[in-house]
Amino acid sequence: MSSDDLKDLYQEVVLEHSKRPRNYRVVEGANAEAAGHNPLCGDQLVVTLKVEDGVIRDVGFQGQGCAISKASASLMTGAVKDRTRAEAESLFERVHKLVTEGPESVDMEALGKLAVLSGVSEFPARVKCASLAWHTLRAALEGRGEAVSTE
Ligand code: ZN
Repeated sequence: MSSDDLKDLYQEVVLEHSKRPRNYRVVEGANAEAAGHNPLCGDQLVVTLKVEDGVIRDVGFQGQGCAISKASASLMTGAVKDRTRAEAESLFERVHKLVTEGPESVDMEALGKLAVLSGVSEFPARVKCASLAWHTLRAALEGRGEAVSTE
């Protein structure tokens, strides 16, 4: 995929996911949750999880924020469902590398739909918007119920 194609796809996917976020709900019977806040942009969200035997069986989010924070949270919920904690953690590391260092820094194939987030690497000010959902997911997985901040 050319970088122009990827850029178009990025805008399309961010718009689509921010308008119609997936898994925008509180998970029924959730046994983990955390709140996240990105003071730079004002994004706020809550991630709820149902974890069984170390596997994320269900995940949802709710909150307010910019299009990128919502789209990234929506994509995150789709990507980590039915993954183990370790798999979710390693996805987070790859996504973080992708948004901070760009598409050349990671195996794009292995990222699936999350690869579109590479567009964020061109806008360093939005990195925290894109990573907020992931920081919040990590806090929920670690059982840290308190609010996390990207600052
Ligand atoms: Zn934002």
